[in-house]
Amino acid sequence: MSDFVVENRIWNRAEVLPRKALRALQLRRLRRQLEQAARVPFYRERMAKAKLTPQSLKSLDDLRRLPFTVKDDLRRNYPLGLCAVPRAELARIHGSSGTTGSSTFVGYTRKDLATWAELCARFLTSGGLRPEHTVQIAFGYGLFTGGFGLHYGVERVGAALIPAAAGNTARQIRLLRDLEVDVLVCTPSYALVIAEGLAEAGTGPHALHLRYGHLGAEPWTEDMRVKIEQQLGILAFNNYGLSEVIGPGVSGECPLRNGMHIQEDHFIVECVNPETLEPVAEGEVGELVFTSLTKEACPVLRYRTRDLASLNSEPCPCGRTGVRMSRVTGRTDDMLIIRGVNVFPLQVEEALLGVAGTAPHYMIIVDRPGNLDEATVQVEIQPGSFSDEMRAMQALRERIDRALQANTGIRFHVELVRPQSLERHLGKAVHVRDLRRDKGLL
Ligand code: ADP
Ligand code: ZN
Repeated sequence: MSDFVVENRIWNRAEVLPRKALRALQLRRLRRQLEQAARVPFYRERMAKAKLTPQSLKSLDDLRRLPFTVKDDLRRNYPLGLCAVPRAELARIHGSSGTTGSSTFVGYTRKDLATWAELCARFLTSGGLRPEHTVQIAFGYGLFTGGFGLHYGVERVGAALIPAAAGNTARQIRLLRDLEVDVLVCTPSYALVIAEGLAEAGTGPHALHLRYGHLGAEPWTEDMRVKIEQQLGILAFNNYGLSEVIGPGVSGECPLRNGMHIQEDHFIVECVNPETLEPVAEGEVGELVFTSLTKEACPVLRYRTRDLASLNSEPCPCGRTGVRMSRVTGRTDDMLIIRGVNVFPLQVEEALLGVAGTAPHYMIIVDRPGNLDEATVQVEIQPGSFSDEMRAMQALRERIDRALQANTGIRFHVELVRPQSLERHLGKAVHVRDLRRDKGLL
């Protein structure tokens, strides 16, 4: 297939299981997962209320008789109240990064860790990783699932691994160059920081040996992918996951890079309208909901991710049969309502990336000084585009203004700022400051 950007290698035959067999496997596994979940009082009560037992589950649709699980349920059962195994059986505890509110914990048994490594090995392989490669992990290591998740996935594939962890960009570049690293693992925003560091050092991708990037943990756009690929001289693959469900490895791109295959032999996915909670039509954007099928320590039933994406169940030329999810277009909880209009940070990013001369570093500041919301976007100018000439800067500002208005429907106050003046993030980038929240107005 000419559309494949890398050779299409399948790590595990389970990835290409025919749909019928996959559904039968899901049903068998769901029964066992319900048994496991029933060890947790929270789920046991819910199953009893819904009069659903592992034995009475007749079809996958029966799952919909259970209510959704939300982040607050995890918070209410802090720290490990939703654990289905005795403490002695836990092998690891991770936490969500706490992007929104306090962090929550998730436990893993030995078997859960093995499953997780397997799932990461699959998407790494489909995105070009081979045992002979060297991989640099520039994700944070710690409670955050990105670092350790990818770490054991890379080991499972059998590649050489450099656990560089996040930070110290000059050292990242030195390692990439001196150790002839083939594959970079980090967030898309940190990949850009590394690319900038490379440019600042007066060199470019030719100085490196990099071929692929496996990027995830935060929303990013197709334009951002193009920028990263050009600046680092790589093919960049997207992968998705969240700690509540397992961590990275819930889904990842195949060589077609047209959506991320969900690993449906381990998770059941639903896509629902976040307001009505009814399933959306195929291809329509909704909130993703996951049910784990094989977890021992922390099974999750119908977990609402707050991540917005669409599903595509058309057969994929790569042969993988897992349904594909689109890029995450935003989180229901990072949606800003500005003067009554819904705006996602990614819409702003998309608009900015479409205007030549800006760097993909920006900060949205929303305030309500009187009765009306005011929104400002600070945008960094690319080093070459910064001009002392007022007129040139004014023209650039107007282009940005128009692009923002076209993409979001609202007027932003545009502030052009000098290259490198906005804070850089080693992990997930922060793009919003909502002063209305700080003032208690929301
Ligand atoms: P937190 O919710 O605190 O950020 P996690 O570290 O578990 O906790 O991060 C999971 C979240 O990161 C997901 O719910 C999603 O919002 C985001 N995410 C992960 N991978 C991607 C990706 N490839 N694209 C967009 N968003 C992603
Ligand atoms: Zn595919």
